[in-house]
Amino acid sequence: MTNNLPVDKMLIFRIALAVPLTRLFDYLPPNNKENSQATIGARVRVPFGSGEKIGILVEITDTTTFKIEKLKNIKEILDQTPLLNEIDLKLLHWASSYYHYPIGEVMMSAFPAVLRTGKPAKLNHESYYELTETGKTLDSKLIKRAKKQQALIDLFKNSPLALSTTQISFQIENWQAPLKKILEKQWIKETEPIKATHSTPQQILLSSTFNANLEQRKAIDSVSENLGQFKVFLLEGVTGSGKTEVYMQIIQQVLKDGKQVLVLLPEITLTPQLENRFRKRFAVPVAIFHSKLSNTQRFEAWLKMQQGETSILLGTRSALFTPMPQPGLIILDEEHDSSFKQQEGFRFSARDVAIVRGKMLDIPVILGSATPSLESFHNAIRKRYHHLKLSKRAGNATKPVIQLLDIRNKKMQEGFSEQLLAQITETLDKREQVLIFLNRRGYAPVLMCHSCGWIARCRHCDANLVVHFNENKLRCHHCGQQQTLSRQCHSCQQNELTPIGLGTERIEQALQEFFPNYKTIRLDRDTTQRKNQLEEQLQAINSGQAEIILGTQMLAKGHHFPNVTLVAMLDVDSGLFGIDFHAPEKLAQMIIQVSGRAGRAEKPGKVVLQTRKPDHPLLLTLIHQDYSHFARSALAERQAAQLPPFSYQALFRVLAMDKQTPVEFLQKISDFLKPAGNKIQILGPAPAPMEKRAGRFHYQLLIQTTVRSDLHDLLDRLMPEIETMKLAKKVRWSLDVDPIDLY
Ligand code: ADP
Ligand code: ZN
Ligand code: ZN
Repeated sequence: MTNNLPVDKMLIFRIALAVPLTRLFDYLPPNNKENSQATIGARVRVPFGSGEKIGILVEITDTTTFKIEKLKNIKEILDQTPLLNEIDLKLLHWASSYYHYPIGEVMMSAFPAVLRTGKPAKLNHESYYELTETGKTLDSKLIKRAKKQQALIDLFKNSPLALSTTQISFQIENWQAPLKKILEKQWIKETEPIKATHSTPQQILLSSTFNANLEQRKAIDSVSENLGQFKVFLLEGVTGSGKTEVYMQIIQQVLKDGKQVLVLLPEITLTPQLENRFRKRFAVPVAIFHSKLSNTQRFEAWLKMQQGETSILLGTRSALFTPMPQPGLIILDEEHDSSFKQQEGFRFSARDVAIVRGKMLDIPVILGSATPSLESFHNAIRKRYHHLKLSKRAGNATKPVIQLLDIRNKKMQEGFSEQLLAQITETLDKREQVLIFLNRRGYAPVLMCHSCGWIARCRHCDANLVVHFNENKLRCHHCGQQQTLSRQCHSCQQNELTPIGLGTERIEQALQEFFPNYKTIRLDRDTTQRKNQLEEQLQAINSGQAEIILGTQMLAKGHHFPNVTLVAMLDVDSGLFGIDFHAPEKLAQMIIQVSGRAGRAEKPGKVVLQTRKPDHPLLLTLIHQDYSHFARSALAERQAAQLPPFSYQALFRVLAMDKQTPVEFLQKISDFLKPAGNKIQILGPAPAPMEKRAGRFHYQLLIQTTVRSDLHDLLDRLMPEIETMKLAKKVRWSLDVDPIDLY
């Protein structure tokens, strides 16, 4: 069974299947002769257990470690042309081995859901139109009474390429009827979809570019000179410095060569903004890929990229593995954002894998941020990445002034000091907008009995229940459990329950009392659930219907609020004392990102941070110097403590119904690793920072090495061991390589 048996003229197809085993599966070719032609990277349908599965053909060989009679035939080969090419497969293999995650699951995660179910990889083309000869010579002024028709003709005249209905819809509202009219008049005609990767240099832009300023020019030129080879650029640019403009001018160079661009964004909420800017700028097709789209939309975006029918793919983390037949450039915007790390299942870092992908494809990768992650900053200092800086805001906007407001011994009303209230009043009087940040949703984080001290706790977690007054509920933010908000103490039956602490809901109520003549809009997870709700709220803010914007970290994410001139963070101290060593980095990024919302237009902005720690070194460095100085001192602290990026970590997380089994399981892992001696540091088994969550007990084991390959060598030996451990089946466990939080 163990020897590789040469099989006479017999072909063995090695298939990746989405099952939690770290191996591939051997099959024989399909019985059906016509169907037996297969290429690596194609999907196949195979019998598996009592059912069937869709998998990927990753290798054709003539040896197997199994008895040939035991092997089954593939049922069907689903793709005549492969969906993944050699480099795609190589990248997925790499990711599987780096994250020590089963190869089949990793491979299948590269596909959108529709393709995972085995549906044909065929695109329904949308309609494309272009001017006819008559249309080309038509003077659109002559039809100025049919405004929409005129606008359409002008749009076509302006566009160097045929236009799809999607592209038209981004430029002109209610275009359907007038388009039909000009089609009937034979001014335009339907035409072939354009092969995105065939465009020629003149055919790229719909609208003109800005004149880049000096720093932008330098950034654009540095990357443009390095197209066609691997190099990582860290574009550190303060908020509003024109990073997006830099991306677009570089993309333009890439498109000239008929190459494709992958742009990754952290948040779905940001894609419409960027999509709009890209579609207004570029005549070439743009596709979008994120989790809020339908399965069909994601399938189409993926295939368009894979078949070279789109030049630009804008997407979130999950778009990273989309095949690019003509790869030109990868951009990760807001590279510091934690949503680039997948936090469940295949826990990959889209940033780190993007860099490996860039290397395999031999193309440049741009990481952009106003607040680069310490890892990227470190790589820039070590010259592994090329550091580009945009230090000034583009156009006329000025940088906001940050002020620490010492609130020790100050009279506070619902979280606001008198000084802050005065500044808000002053700003509102000038008819400018105010943004207030508090990273805690709900009414209050604690409900306590004034009479006996009882606190409302979650039955399933080591956590307090959060008061949600508007819905009359108590909710656990960790497991989702909720109950009606009662007036009576569960312990002493008195009606003395008091909400303690502040959440956005409570602040909203306070603001309405302080400023009854102004409208407040609250942006947090509770007020943006409904479809389009966030867009409506943003619209209301930008049209000036609301003067006060209140919200959680959602506010830190790239939105433009041009009329905001005062930003207040009510409570920065809660971020200063996190148990996780990443806490200071996260807090600094949050402060700078939230500050970046102020004074983006002509009016200067001001940022007020309420604190009881006005002497805290982190706050002082950040405010009196800048993020770069902060990053350098934070890196020095990490180095002194031998923490990443000066060491390499992997975290085992385990949960079970009892406390005993996770500890035993982790102890076994620890015992296996111990012989590695001083190559490795093992911390744990220890309870997770919140031991009980959703009724399960959570334990963890952190391992750390100073040499990256030591960590991976150990994990390589450990993982097959775990597959054989009986205890592993009694718990739920996961491995997180390069964890970004230790929760
Ligand atoms: P970032 O992505 O760094 O936040 P943006 O690219 O969105 O910055 O630019 C901020 C604003 O400045 C935008 O309104 C943009 O159109 C404008 N802008 C960018 N570059 C220039 C330039 N060179 N000249 C004039 N305005 C610019
Ligand atoms: Zn009580
Ligand atoms: Zn709970």
